[in-house]
Amino acid sequence: MPELPEVELVARALERALHGQRIASAKLIRAGLAPDNTPQEFARALRGARVCEVGRRGKFIVVRFDGGQVLLTHLRMTGQFKMLRPSQPLPKHTHALFNLDDKSRLAFTDQRHFGLMKIARASELEQTKELRGLAPEPFSDDFTPDYLARVLARTRRMLKSVLLDQTKVTGLGNIYAAEALFLARVNPFVTAAALSRRRVPRLHRAILDVLCEAVSYVRARDVDLENLESNYFSGSGSGWRVYDREGEPCGGCGALVRRVAHAGRSTYFCPRCQRR
Ligand SMILES: [Zn+2]
Repeated sequence: MPELPEVELVARALERALHGQRIASAKLIRAGLAPDNTPQEFARALRGARVCEVGRRGKFIVVRFDGGQVLLTHLRMTGQFKMLRPSQPLPKHTHALFNLDDKSRLAFTDQRHFGLMKIARASELEQTKELRGLAPEPFSDDFTPDYLARVLARTRRMLKSVLLDQTKVTGLGNIYAAEALFLARVNPFVTAAALSRRRVPRLHRAILDVLCEAVSYVRARDVDLENLESNYFSGSGSGWRVYDREGEPCGGCGALVRRVAHAGRSTYFCPRCQRR
């Protein structure tokens, strides 16, 4: 599943492709993609709307239009935007199609059907059920070491699960949670509330560092909207520190990186650097 940096990458690619463009017509092909809007509402809301800005909130892509409408999109497992070449037939699993004024076409494909779209009014955006519970953006002033300490102190859940909970910390998924915990030298399986208060700032710093590193890497790259999937998850230049490196030596101490399967996910960590 794309995490914050990958969603940022897609949002920026869309911003470049769509900024100032008008949507001639939009079609919701699989109604279940936008369960809170009918296909008619979807088409009516977007017809003739000009794109003002494409941004991101958590892992949602937020497209704002001049009429005050907003299109929220969550890519989930397999959602992808694809700019189509002029005579290209619709790709398989196209669930929404946007015909732009300049005759170009943007398709949203979703092989696994977990993606989500929603049309909302800009004035109601923060109150939508999708966004209202989200934790502060990691790069905002509200995401402080104190905030993180308060969140962690309140729960007996496993630390890594708390980092993945978007209502507690926004933007981390399985990859960057593992990377941040490694960088902070914290064991992923400890109880969140048991993490000592003085270690929280280091974890906070590590979360920002891994996200910042990945976002800068993503921003520096040329993105091909006709082939976005090849741009997902290529690591931050030199690749991951522990994620997907089971059995390889840890760059910090040389011990072999371990993988533990838990609740359907794999957790990668260094047994020596992240002993507790
Ligand atoms: Zn190590």
